[in-house]
Amino acid sequence: MALLEIKNLQVRVEEREILHGLTLAIDAGKVHAIMGPNGSGKSTLSHVIAGKPGYEVTGGEILFKGEDLLAMAPDERAAKGVFLAFQYPVEIPGVATMTFLRTALNAQRKARGEEEYSTPDFLKKVREISKQLNIPQDMLKRGVNVGFSGGEKKRNEVLQMALFQPSLCILDEMDSGLDIDALRIAADGVNALRSPERSMIVITHYQRLLNYIVPDVVHVMSKGRVVKSGGKELALELEASGYAQFEDAA
Ligand code: ADP
Ligand code: MG
Ligand code: MG
Repeated sequence: MALLEIKNLQVRVEEREILHGLTLAIDAGKVHAIMGPNGSGKSTLSHVIAGKPGYEVTGGEILFKGEDLLAMAPDERAAKGVFLAFQYPVEIPGVATMTFLRTALNAQRKARGEEEYSTPDFLKKVREISKQLNIPQDMLKRGVNVGFSGGEKKRNEVLQMALFQPSLCILDEMDSGLDIDALRIAADGVNALRSPERSMIVITHYQRLLNYIVPDVVHVMSKGRVVKSGGKELALELEASGYAQFEDAA
């Protein structure tokens, strides 16, 4: 059974249909890249999976671990293991990143019926992961995302993923605004989270990111649909031939 199964999904934003019958299935343990030109609906898809308000689903369905995802509230989806990164880089002044992480993690563990981490266990885990991600301890004392650079925000998201251990990670344009060193660190962090139980959707406009996070499957989106799927070599073909060929097909 697929971990995530999207069937004929139709979505409207402010009366305009953005996704026109999108179908996609992702097995556990697989990394799927979604590529496509700007405005093709990639972020819309990620928002609808995560349950961001403002989207009207007018048709189709999304099954996650066989359950109706669209019937769940956003926090319920998160507790079930859906994690969307990089779309809410909200700043929370006055709340130290460390405190935020601990509160969010324990709320999520509670919702899953798991025991909360003790303070020493939590600190040990955060230190271990932040070291791998090259996150300085003083960054964790600062307000959430306050004054974080693009790279720091992304490393903070990867830290959250490593703590929350979601079964589906959606990474929306993690390469935007990152220099090559920051991209490598973030991508290494993501790769360390690959496992037979965890699936990932890596959304990107460019092929470059997929040199670092090598996908099992590549999909091309155009005008609100998946218009082509293939192996990782499809990303290289696209780099050479561009998206224009799909604009007509869609
Ligand atoms: P991508 O992530 O592939 O660049 P998006 O999902 O952001 O594409 O956008 C797909 C289309 O939906 C675009 O035409 C965009 O203008 C439109 N759209 C997205 N969000 C909104 C919104 N909140 N209100 C109106 N139109 C939107
Ligand atoms: Mg865009
Ligand atoms: Mg987008």
